[in-house]
Amino acid sequence: MRTQIIIVAGGSGKRMKSDIPKQFLSLKGKPILMHTIEQFTTFSSDIFLVLPKKDISIWQELVKNHRFNTPVNIINGGGERFFSVQNALNQCSKEGIILIHDGVRPLVSKETIQNVIDHTLKYSSAIPVLDIQESVRMIVKRESMPVDRNKYKLVQTPQGFSANLIIESYQEDYNFKFTDDASVFENAGYSISLVGGNKENIKITSPEDLQLAEFLLS
Ligand code: C5P
Repeated sequence: MRTQIIIVAGGSGKRMKSDIPKQFLSLKGKPILMHTIEQFTTFSSDIFLVLPKKDISIWQELVKNHRFNTPVNIINGGGERFFSVQNALNQCSKEGIILIHDGVRPLVSKETIQNVIDHTLKYSSAIPVLDIQESVRMIVKRESMPVDRNKYKLVQTPQGFSANLIIESYQEDYNFKFTDDASVFENAGYSISLVGGNKENIKITSPEDLQLAEFLLS
């Protein structure tokens, strides 16, 4: 079964307060994005990497400097994550399954990737999630009230889908409510299926996250 991997790294990463886009920052001596791509190479060689058009030359320079020889198809990013994914899907085959992953999640485990692939093959979709350990409160006007944390899950990537169904789902117009691929898939009328994620699979969005990732890798 064909497995295509889309890694989205088309964002500018303003929250990182750095001149270099966050996906290129060094983690244990290597750009974050290279760690991310390497987690997937044992599962597929069909990898689509979405980058901001203006940063493709930075990536090519990093590839040369780090002698990174995993072949990837480079795709131009869009103004929102939705458009970055859409650009990649336009280049994908409708055969098999597609996994869509945030480039800034280098600590996804191989076990999570395998679970997502197996589950997608069975159920047409797989969304990795975690239980919430903290207490949760909902903001209501100026007050807040406790809610049952067992009713909520934290959502990660990679999210897996049957290729033909996710390609069709992304024919829709953009809606700001689409925060991930699962929400686009559901909007098209398909139901999603949840699998367990891994706790270390953090999204690196701030300098503190980068320090935590360094620690988790050591
Ligand atoms: O901005 P956010 O934290 O949701 O980004 C999640 C992932 O989506 C990141 O890897 C980022 O590079 C990517 N992204 C993208 N195109 C955009 C915005 C974000 O590929 N326009």
